[in-house]
Amino acid sequence: MNDLNADPKAEWLKKDRTYLWHHISPHNDNPIIFVSGEGAWLTDADGNRYFDGMSGLWCVNVGHGREEIAQAAAKQMTTLAYTPLTQSHVPAIELAAKINDWLDGEYRIFFSNSGSDANEVAFKIARQYHRQNGKLGKHKFISRYRAYHGNSMGALGATGQAQRKLKYEPLGIGFSHVPPPYCYRCPFGQQADSCRLECAQAFEDAIIGEGADSVAAVIMEPVITGGGMIVPPDSYLPRIRSICDKYDVLLIMDEVICGFGRSGQRFGHLNYGVRPDIVTMAKGMTSAYSPLSATAVSAELYACFKIPGGDNHFRHVNTFGGNPVSCAVALENINILEREELVSRSAQIGTQLQTLLSPLREHPNVGDIRFFGSAVGIELVDDPISKTPARSDRVAGIIAACFSKGLLIGKNGDTVPGFMNILTLCPPFITTDDELDYIASVLSEVFFGISEEDAS
Ligand code: PMP
Repeated sequence: MNDLNADPKAEWLKKDRTYLWHHISPHNDNPIIFVSGEGAWLTDADGNRYFDGMSGLWCVNVGHGREEIAQAAAKQMTTLAYTPLTQSHVPAIELAAKINDWLDGEYRIFFSNSGSDANEVAFKIARQYHRQNGKLGKHKFISRYRAYHGNSMGALGATGQAQRKLKYEPLGIGFSHVPPPYCYRCPFGQQADSCRLECAQAFEDAIIGEGADSVAAVIMEPVITGGGMIVPPDSYLPRIRSICDKYDVLLIMDEVICGFGRSGQRFGHLNYGVRPDIVTMAKGMTSAYSPLSATAVSAELYACFKIPGGDNHFRHVNTFGGNPVSCAVALENINILEREELVSRSAQIGTQLQTLLSPLREHPNVGDIRFFGSAVGIELVDDPISKTPARSDRVAGIIAACFSKGLLIGKNGDTVPGFMNILTLCPPFITTDDELDYIASVLSEVFFGISEEDAS
């Protein structure tokens, strides 16, 4: 029997506390229970509204509540929800072709479910590729400290954040790391005018140090997003490309966050004019309306998997990879990105935020503000001279203050436990100019403790 006086939120909280295991954080017995989303806004069970300044987790790029996507999913579910994986279906065919258009190159597309899956597929393809070329020893991967590449044993092995890994080691073997291109805290002690791209040279040193005959691939994001919005100098990626070419090492570009417009171009690497051998993508491909990821493999690499005779095919399967409904969702999501010109809007949001957030640079706890397209990192310090990372309670305080004003932002940062000193922001691409003003005024109020009204 229904209890008409029942408090649904209290019931949900009770069940949450009893049954649900939340991701990454210590169990929070008092989570916000979100019940709906529209545009850039989320609503909780008490009717409070929040601006989704992180687009969920760097993913709901076209915003919440898109009827067109819901209709595309419903149509596909009733037409064809699943097919035998070794055969084909129209949404996967059309989506693979569309991704090729977006990538500006000739790639074969392998579909999976998550960003981690897409990276695992990239690692397996890289190893098999070298083996099929007779280079049996090439099995290692090099990535960067601070990078995040996923939660599974291989992708976590590629991740360069100790605190995410230590409880689960040993992880996939064969992964090593080099320092990131972290210009604000250059690991090589250089300044802009003395920089010799030592951070890129570190890859060559690592390849030589590991033994070039043992290295299969380098994996990197165009910029390190989750690890602190670390944006490299413009010549960094081209230099990495030429080092990879020199040693027959593949370049895997993790576009899980940067892809599909976040960088202000269709894919992040297009900002730097390099062509990766393998590109992995997920989040923004469906704007998170349905789980889907892809590993795009250059036509040259793919040719090795088609050599007649022998056991040359890629022996990898996942039941839900390339699910017709998820592919239909991705196609509609990409249609929206194209129809509403949201990639250029993402670039424009970045430019507007650069202006709107520049007053924050005056605040003594703001060490640096970094942008890549519409993704922003605000690095907090105790003071700008020592650059000591701000204490995690100060960062938590800022996030809580933004939250109390209805703005959801993220944090990321240092690999040293206790330090999470980089605030992150990546609004949906449909964010209006007024909403950008709102973000800036909340941040200004929180940092400087005055509202615009107070000031006028
Ligand atoms: N690569 C990058 C750069 C990511 O940011 C993430 C997730 N935040 C992943 C891979 C893993 O994606 P997923 O959580 O979908 O497995």
